[in-house]
Amino acid sequence: MSGTITKVSGPLVLAEGLADANVSDVVRVGSQRLIGEILNMTGDRASIQVYEETSGLGPGAEVETTGMPMSVELGPGMLDNIYDGIQRPLPEMRAASGDCIARGIDVPALNREKKWDFVPVAKPGDKLRAGDVLGTVQETSAILHKIMVPNGLSGELVRIESGEHVVTDEIAVLRDEKGKEHALTMIQRWPVRIARPYEKKYVPARPMNSGQRIIDTMFPIAKGGTAAVPGPFGSGKTVVQHQLAKWSDVDIVVYIGCGERGNEMTDVLMEFPELKDPRNGEPLMKRTVLIANTSDMPVAAHEASIYTGITIAEYFRDMGYDVAVLADSTSRWAEALREMSGRLEEMPGEEGYPAYLASRLAQFYERAGVIECLGQDERRGSVTAIGAVSPPGGDISEPVAQATMRIVKVFWGLDSALAYARHFPAINWLSSYSLYLDTLAPWYTEQFGESYMKNRTQAMHILQEESELQEIVRLVGQDALSPADRLTMETAKMIREDFLQQNAFVDEDAYSAYAKQYRLLDLVLRYDAACREALDKGVDMNALFVIPAREAIGRAKMADAKTFAADYDAIEAQMKKEIAEVIAGGEDA
Ligand code: ADP
Repeated sequence: MSGTITKVSGPLVLAEGLADANVSDVVRVGSQRLIGEILNMTGDRASIQVYEETSGLGPGAEVETTGMPMSVELGPGMLDNIYDGIQRPLPEMRAASGDCIARGIDVPALNREKKWDFVPVAKPGDKLRAGDVLGTVQETSAILHKIMVPNGLSGELVRIESGEHVVTDEIAVLRDEKGKEHALTMIQRWPVRIARPYEKKYVPARPMNSGQRIIDTMFPIAKGGTAAVPGPFGSGKTVVQHQLAKWSDVDIVVYIGCGERGNEMTDVLMEFPELKDPRNGEPLMKRTVLIANTSDMPVAAHEASIYTGITIAEYFRDMGYDVAVLADSTSRWAEALREMSGRLEEMPGEEGYPAYLASRLAQFYERAGVIECLGQDERRGSVTAIGAVSPPGGDISEPVAQATMRIVKVFWGLDSALAYARHFPAINWLSSYSLYLDTLAPWYTEQFGESYMKNRTQAMHILQEESELQEIVRLVGQDALSPADRLTMETAKMIREDFLQQNAFVDEDAYSAYAKQYRLLDLVLRYDAACREALDKGVDMNALFVIPAREAIGRAKMADAKTFAADYDAIEAQMKKEIAEVIAGGEDA
């Protein structure tokens, strides 16, 4: 079925004569067979979003529909790979056409020549349903890939073949209820704009451990949850994303780079493959799928990349894995949406974004969650979705940031003033929030006792009080503060510097286990309590602020993970002794 182009406007192509095509169909456009997708149809006329440069294309050229919706190929070979927004493997495209990627190029998403050692799990005679595991492939050293019965199929397993196979080989045959036999390979296809099915969804109740103190203790995200990281240029957005990719206790990371400024994607392409998984020293890519929109791809491809990424994440979730999707940045994606909407001459909403911006964003984040996988055995998987937002000028009152904030449950607000003061991670503790605190609190309490959340609440309270006191100091000066208020400001400073600040580039500090996070904060709060007691006895507070233990508390976060507990006990003992000495000195005088 083919039609004819009537108009070309950047990435938008209008064509007629496509009566048989459907919305969402993939089409090939012009003699170069550029890849496009039908956005909408009226009669036999289609508006097509083309994912490649359309220069040279004009009215009269042919458009051919493939009759298939925009889909991804799912199977072994995605990990350790780098794709563009429509799942074309960048390294192989480079190999096929050189650095400047040729248009219309056809390279399959999954390598057709690589052999995988398929180990059957199911056996002939088994009654299988969609989602059941047929067998496994050790895809990388980190991940066991489960080959599942594709959605929509069920029946009795007739044959299954172990051994070395390429992804297109027949590895099993399933006979459905009607007696029809289906040959199965290691590949599944799935339309990217449709969420993959699951048995049921659970309320996320376990935190995703990131090892970042301000995240885990102050504003935790649940596995299967959603978060946004708005960050103006230079505020440490990339470092936060890298830290999350490196340290989060998920099995797989899908990193979607939408390319913020001209060269950013090249940064990601250079940096990511260099990162090491801190837990085993292996390249991080062994459990990562990277989706990168290179600068030679038009903005339209940014729009697709988010869906490609989350669909791949869902597929790994369906195997029972915890997956994190890091999208950097959703602002770029929204701009692509705006550009297409403008060309389609739709009614513009706020700042030119289409009225459906918020619903599209919601559709992305809604695909996060903890689920019971399809299939007969009990498997739980999760997709955690974290989107960076880069509002122009750092102004979070703009539409994308606002729409995102209404959807996500966690907000880590990066702040350029903090970054300027070299307080990293520059997550502002006053503007950030986590709506998972209530659902996660029982987990924290069960694991670490009542005081974990109590300390967290107290610390947040002190930080809020500090900001009010700072206001007073600005107006009437430090002398107006009572000794108790002075102490509050001192403790807040310690919480900021000795607890919240965390250096991503120092091994001892880059990751903090929960136990360390707890004890660090607890140490600061114990110091606060001991000082308050001393103040009640009329001690000179300045003497309390200069005890040597203060410096030891400041250094505590650098303690080795192994000696931390002993170091902590020593510091606490030292602190108590020194405060007692100050009190005794005060009484002598
Ligand atoms: P953005 O991506 O928002 O433009 P980056 O993530 O590149 O900003 O961060 C800018 C700089 O801030 C980094 O090069 C680094 O020097 C510093 N930085 C950010 N986060 C941290 C951190 N957690 N620890 C130490 N330095 C950091």
